[in-house]
Amino acid sequence: MKKRLLETEIIHAGYNDDAHIGSLVPPLYQTSTFTFDSADQGEKRFAGEEEGFVYYRLGNPTVKILEDRMAVLEGAEKALAFGSGMAAVSAVLFSLVKGGDHILCSQGVYGCTFGLLQLMKEKFGVTHTFSQMRTKEDFLSAIQHNTSCIYIETPINPTMKVVDLKLASEAASEKGIPVIVDNTFCSPYLQKPIELGCDIVVHSATKYICGHGDVIAGIAAGNRKIMEKISKTTQKDIGGVVSPFDAWLLLRGLKTLAVRMDRHCENAEKLAEALVRHPSVEGVFYPGDPTNEDYMTAKKQMRKFGGLVSFTIKGTKDDAQAFMDRLKLIKIAVSLGDAETLIQHPATMTHAVVPAASRQQMGITDNLLRLSVGLEGWEDIWEDLKQALEKG
Ligand SMILES: *Cc1c(COP(=O)(O)O)cnc(C)c1O
Repeated sequence: MKKRLLETEIIHAGYNDDAHIGSLVPPLYQTSTFTFDSADQGEKRFAGEEEGFVYYRLGNPTVKILEDRMAVLEGAEKALAFGSGMAAVSAVLFSLVKGGDHILCSQGVYGCTFGLLQLMKEKFGVTHTFSQMRTKEDFLSAIQHNTSCIYIETPINPTMKVVDLKLASEAASEKGIPVIVDNTFCSPYLQKPIELGCDIVVHSATKYICGHGDVIAGIAAGNRKIMEKISKTTQKDIGGVVSPFDAWLLLRGLKTLAVRMDRHCENAEKLAEALVRHPSVEGVFYPGDPTNEDYMTAKKQMRKFGGLVSFTIKGTKDDAQAFMDRLKLIKIAVSLGDAETLIQHPATMTHAVVPAASRQQMGITDNLLRLSVGLEGWEDIWEDLKQALEKG
């Protein structure tokens, strides 16, 4: 059979209505436990000799539909759902890394991922280094004898720098090290790290996968062996699983992923162009800007350029904050990927935990703002930005 398009799989993959008395929409199995026909069946399920559900921390039919769908979308053998993006990130890292290991990271990661790396260093002696990852030599020279994985965000939050994933996977495979990619900013609709040779994808499903700002959840996807190990250890025993209701909401949100992403990207492109031309704006960081140094890499590995635009305004931290306070339509909030356009100030919000010196190194200046472009009419979003830029 011809491979179906992603737009179709988003709606159908992993679900068979015949197995659910014809229910068009995946049913919500809101139950914590599952009964066994007999003691013998219970023994077999626990021994892994018989397929079936036991207790929802170990699996739930609604959650499984989401996991099966996400595996198809990411081109992975298996996916697992978690109670938050950070639960997914930590389950993956705790599974791949042991005390004394080293993690090679992209120059800039999500603030709480940065916090987790700090925690792993303090508690378990797991060290990490950040690398620009611009050339193969950057990777090869930064990989140490004890490097157990490479962790990449691209585009990088919030500076929107892009890492070449094919280059990363080539360098890593020379050394036999797995590459983990946080694909939150793109969703599988814009970027498929596994097709580019990377090993594991993680998501904060809270963002574009959900798309409606009403769920916190995470996804990890990769080959069957690694995912089964995670499911039987760091997922089961640390226990950061997603609730069936949240999985159900994610399945509902996911259906419109392609149409939402198209609009997010279209709006972002127009706003980035308008911001570049405004005299009160110092710099615009958007991979779809043809003058951006990462434009060609972004074009090569992303279907479109995403819905996030970062920019610096001329002035200080106070000017940046005053600008935010003048906005009317645009809401001041962290998170991203929602229908509503959101703006946040990374230096005092998402990346406040990062020490000032590291923030500078990552390019997170005090006048940098990150805009998560929503689904509103782009002219209205621009009108709001413009009035706030001009009243300063
Ligand atoms: C939000 C986010 C996370 C963390 O996800 P939660 O669902 O909030 O736990 C991780 N990585 C990136 C890039 C994010 O934007």
